[in-house]
Amino acid sequence: MDQSENRDGLAATLTQGFLQTDTQLLLIDSAGDILMASAGAARLFKVDQESLIGTSCSHWFMLPSSVENIWTNEGCEGPDIRELEMKDAGGEIFAIEVDCTRFSVQPAAEMQEQLHWLLMLTDVRQREHQDELRAVRLAKLSLLNQVSEALYGANLTLDQILEALLICVTAGQGLRFNRAFLLLIDEQRNALQGELAIGPSNADEAARIWHDLAGKPGDLFEMMTSYDKSIKQTDVVVNQIVRHMTVPLGDDQNLLVRAMFDRQSQRVTQDLDLSGAATIRHWLGCSEFAVAPLTTRGGPLGVIIADNAISGNGITDLDLEFLQMFANQSSGAIENSRLYHELEKRLLDLHKAHQKQKDDQENQLRMERLSVMGETSAIVAHELRNPLVAIGGFARTLLRNLEEEDPNREFAHIITEEVARLERIIHDLLDFIRPQKMLRKSVTLDHLIADTLGKFQPEMEEKEILLEYDLQAGHTQVNCHPGEIQQVLQNLIINAAQVLRPGGRITAQTRVLEGGVKVALLDNGPGFAEDVREKLFSPFFSTKPTGSGLGLTICSQIIKAHGGVLGAENRPEGGASFSFILPLPKG
Ligand code: ADP
Repeated sequence: MDQSENRDGLAATLTQGFLQTDTQLLLIDSAGDILMASAGAARLFKVDQESLIGTSCSHWFMLPSSVENIWTNEGCEGPDIRELEMKDAGGEIFAIEVDCTRFSVQPAAEMQEQLHWLLMLTDVRQREHQDELRAVRLAKLSLLNQVSEALYGANLTLDQILEALLICVTAGQGLRFNRAFLLLIDEQRNALQGELAIGPSNADEAARIWHDLAGKPGDLFEMMTSYDKSIKQTDVVVNQIVRHMTVPLGDDQNLLVRAMFDRQSQRVTQDLDLSGAATIRHWLGCSEFAVAPLTTRGGPLGVIIADNAISGNGITDLDLEFLQMFANQSSGAIENSRLYHELEKRLLDLHKAHQKQKDDQENQLRMERLSVMGETSAIVAHELRNPLVAIGGFARTLLRNLEEEDPNREFAHIITEEVARLERIIHDLLDFIRPQKMLRKSVTLDHLIADTLGKFQPEMEEKEILLEYDLQAGHTQVNCHPGEIQQVLQNLIINAAQVLRPGGRITAQTRVLEGGVKVALLDNGPGFAEDVREKLFSPFFSTKPTGSGLGLTICSQIIKAHGGVLGAENRPEGGASFSFILPLPKG
């Protein structure tokens, strides 16, 4: 093949390329007539390529008279761009940008050189559309940036992160989906489980919310707060829907499970028949939706489903691209938050364990000290008891032998009284520190109370005190040391009887509460002064001349050892109420 054949072949290829390209190209001669038009140009003019050939540019372009001969303008040497208006075959007038390049052609050696112009046309409307797309993309990227800063920077809780994610997917400044549903992996159920959703439930609500939020500033946090108020009352329906959404992870053909494990977002259009799509359409009540996986390096977390059920708008490639970007951003933040909270929980557990160890050590020390004190007190009490008995005996003999008018009688009387008091203290003290065999058994409390208090009936009758029973625990049993509970009941009834006058009344009450049985002994005596309430259970506090002040202390210790608390109240109608709760056996 010689060089000229080669050149001809190349020219033919170039011509072919020129004619077929989508780029809008025209080749015109010096008279402004169209010699060749590309497929793209023909589409722009809304005619077929052949019909353009031979027509004049001035037929298509609205050339101002001063630039009538714009193509032949001598000044147009190299590439030059002009903005003009043109009218297509349908009569539509629109702005166009023309990039014109002049070149000369010499058809044959003997022929004169001819001038030609190559015009490259750009439809300004398309550029405007692209500018708009660019602006939208920029706004979304900026929001994405804010989301990323907010999600990672602020110490948000997992719930706040999830909410922020759904808000961004639906917000006007965000992805503008109508509704968004979040499903997370529930490890216990081994399923994808609907967690949270956002979006209006119908067109009226949508119109109200979108109107409310229109023009609100685009800052993420402001968006979250304004959404909070507007949407919180309306997302009831979507949250009802989301709760029904469950897909077993074992259903590996299901489009949600696949999207998550393949880490691939997916637009499910009306005609796309994927496994599980019908159920999702049924849940959503709409045929088209988008799915984006939430995954981290640690593995999958869940999926977001977004739709335009209210507006019916289609889901574009850009929508899907950004949904995936939001999902990616949020996955990291969700993972971070989970790890952070896990760490926080472990720290707290560690702290609690440390505190418990410290408490146990302190308790053990206290117990050891108390046990030494208990042993010592037992020895001291024993040692005191015998001489006291002797002193008491002698003092009583002395008192008997002294004449009525003897001035020493008074002193002998005081000695006998005080010795009696000391003997009681020692008796109670020994009672208190005597090692108890904690043999517990199941006891029907109402029976135990009736038996114990019943023994006091003759004494009460003698004192003209009415003993009443209001026992409502029935056959309820508690696990206790019956002898010790009897000791408490005896102490309480003796105390009550001591403050009552003839005609007084004591009521024994039981009630079953959640987790325990409450026992109370109510009297209609004088009650106690409010400022001594705390002291009632302290050792040696007594308002009685010969009281040891150990009765309630011992009762309180016994109830504590049973896992309960002994309390005292003045009754509004007069009198005192001493009550305790014994826990019910677990299970
Ligand atoms: P003691 O009976 O030896 O005084 P307690 O520890 O049993 O010791 O009681 C301490 C104090 O609690 C009593 O001295 C009394 O002031 C008060 N108290 C106990 N029971 C009642 C009651 N039912 N009504 C009013 N005060 C009471």
